[in-house]
Amino acid sequence: MAASGGSARVASTTPVTGTAGRLRVSEIFHSIQGEADAIGWRTVFVRLTGCPLRCVWCDTEYAFHGGDWRAIDDILAEVALHGARHVCVTGGEPLAQKRCLILLQKLCDAGYDVSLETSGALDVGVVDPRVRKVMDLKAPGSGESARNLWSNLDHLLAHDQIKIVIASRADYEWACARLVEHALAERCMVLFSPVHGAVQPRELAEWILADKLPVRFQLQLHKLLWNDAAGH
Ligand code: SF4
Repeated sequence: MAASGGSARVASTTPVTGTAGRLRVSEIFHSIQGEADAIGWRTVFVRLTGCPLRCVWCDTEYAFHGGDWRAIDDILAEVALHGARHVCVTGGEPLAQKRCLILLQKLCDAGYDVSLETSGALDVGVVDPRVRKVMDLKAPGSGESARNLWSNLDHLLAHDQIKIVIASRADYEWACARLVEHALAERCMVLFSPVHGAVQPRELAEWILADKLPVRFQLQLHKLLWNDAAGH
């Protein structure tokens, strides 16, 4: 699939020195990646605190507040302890803390395969291009559809992914319309994921098959394995 173009505004060679500040962190944990292109890989998750959105079906509300201030170099040291190639920076909305960009850059510099889970409401054009962005488009059932920053689509690269979480048939039809309107599948991989308890996974799978959509169906592997227990 072709990238849609657009250039990141943080060059990968931008020097970052010292501890370069701190970030508020909800948790750092080692688990199996449950979503998107890196599904199944042993991964270290860095969950940053805070999110300006309030999606109806959010499953990480505990990350809205609290957390601990951690020096970026401390975070890197803890990540290294787990000996994993993959690191996922998530939230909350990680980009709500501007120094997240420094963390992402340093993780890439250290040689990790880095992904970023982001709501799609904040500018992703500033993210290091080596990072694989997994960017949500919020369907109406989230209650946050008005927050979609559509200009973000022009900052997606071929290795990025667009994720649409679907809570109803109406959400599905909204997603199908956006797929056509913005030629989403020509930009990068598009993931459709059912909201647990709202849409039967098989139902969504059958809609995708019936409509022959160029999207990838996904279930959250970590929910199947650990049923959302903390630390996974
Ligand atoms: S953007 Fe993510 S963390 Fe924020 S409310 Fe929505 S689902 Fe929760």
